[in-house]
Amino acid sequence: MRNDQTNLHDLPPAELESIVGAVVSPPFRVKQIEEWTHVRGAASFDAMTNLPKDLRADLAARFSVAFPDVVERTEPASDGSQKYLFVLDDGNRIESVYMPMGERTSICLSSQAGCAVGCTFCVTGFFGAGRNLTPGEMLGQFFTIQREHGVPMERMNVVFMGMGEPLLNMEHLETTLDVLYRNVAPKRITVSTSGIIPGIDELAQLDRRPNLAISINAPDRKRREEIMPITKKYPLEELIASLKRYPTEHGREITVEYVLLAGYNDAASDAAALARLIRGLRAKVNAIPFNADPNLPGWMKRPTDAAIDRFVDTLVKNGVAVTVRRSKGREIAAACGQLRGKKEAPRHRRAT
Ligand code: SAH
Ligand code: SF4
Repeated sequence: MRNDQTNLHDLPPAELESIVGAVVSPPFRVKQIEEWTHVRGAASFDAMTNLPKDLRADLAARFSVAFPDVVERTEPASDGSQKYLFVLDDGNRIESVYMPMGERTSICLSSQAGCAVGCTFCVTGFFGAGRNLTPGEMLGQFFTIQREHGVPMERMNVVFMGMGEPLLNMEHLETTLDVLYRNVAPKRITVSTSGIIPGIDELAQLDRRPNLAISINAPDRKRREEIMPITKKYPLEELIASLKRYPTEHGREITVEYVLLAGYNDAASDAAALARLIRGLRAKVNAIPFNADPNLPGWMKRPTDAAIDRFVDTLVKNGVAVTVRRSKGREIAAACGQLRGKKEAPRHRRAT
C-alpha cells in the first residue's frame, strides 16, 4: 500500500534513533524500535510485541515499516535456488535469488529497477534504465527471503548482483549496508559493479567495506568498449588502477567476473590476456558462462564445456585462482545478475 509516512526501513540506524527519539521516550524504547526494525526486519509495528499497544498504534500513525510484497516465487531448482519477484509501490517489479550453498546461504539482491549501464549481454540492461531502489526496498528483499527460509543470520551471505548497478545508487547502498551490518559481517557482503570508478573509490573510503566484485568481461579495452559501453566513460586502465587502490585487508580478494561468450572472449589467448590484465591485483576470477535470452544478440552463445575448461585451465596455468558459475539457478532461468523483473511494463525511461 502506498503512503507518505516515513518508512523506518529507509533510515540509517543513527537517523532512525533521532527521528523516533524525538517522539518516543524513554530511550530504551527507541533502542527496542531500532532493533525490531534493523535487526529483526519487522514489517509491521504489531510485530514489535514487547512494545505497549498504545505505543505501537502511535508509531503506526506517524511512520511505516513497509517492505515490498512478493508477487511470485519459483519452485526450488535442483540446487535449491529460488527466484523471487517483488512488486514496488509504484508498480515496478524487481527480482532476487535465494541460493542455499551447503553451510552458507546467499541472497542476491537488486539495487535498481532496471539498469542504465546497458551492457549488451545483459537482459536487465536491455530493458533499460529504471529507478534507484530505496534502502527499505533492498532490505525488504533480504529480510523477506531470510525469514521465509528461516536462515540463521550467521549463515548469510549477501551479494548485490541482481538488477541494477549498485554504485549508481550509492547513498541508498551505504544506508542498506549500515543496516545489514547489524546482522551480517562486511566480509560476508559483496557488491558487484560494472566499473563505476568514483563509486569504487567511495566504497574504498568506508570504515566498514563490503567485498568488491568487478565485472571485467573482456580481456582488453577494445572488446570491453564493445560489450560494456561504460568503458568509454571509465577506461579499463583507470578501472584497474582503482581496483588496485581498493583495500583488501585480512586476506580478502576482489572477485573478477568474466562472462564467457563463445568465439568472442573465451580463447586460451584471452585467458592469458586476462591474467596479464589483473596481474598485481589480489583477485580471483569467477567465470560465468553466458546465459542466452531471446532479447539478447543472436551471435552471443554459451561456450562448450571444453572451451570453458580450456579457458579455466589457462588461467590456472597463469597463476590465477578461478571458479566457474556453472549452473546455480539456471533451471529457473535466474542466474543472478541477469534478472529482468519479468512482467514489468516494457521500458522505464527515468534516469538513474
Ligand atoms: N551491475 C552490476 C551487478 C549486476 S550484474 C554488474 O554489472 O556487476 C551481475 C553479473 O551478471 C555481472 O558480472 C554480469 O556481467 C553478469 N551477467 C549479466 N548478464 C549475463 C548473462 N546474460 N549471462 C551471464 N552473466 C551475465
Ligand atoms: Fe547493468 Fe550489470 Fe547488467 Fe551491465 S551487467 S547492464 S551494469 S546490471
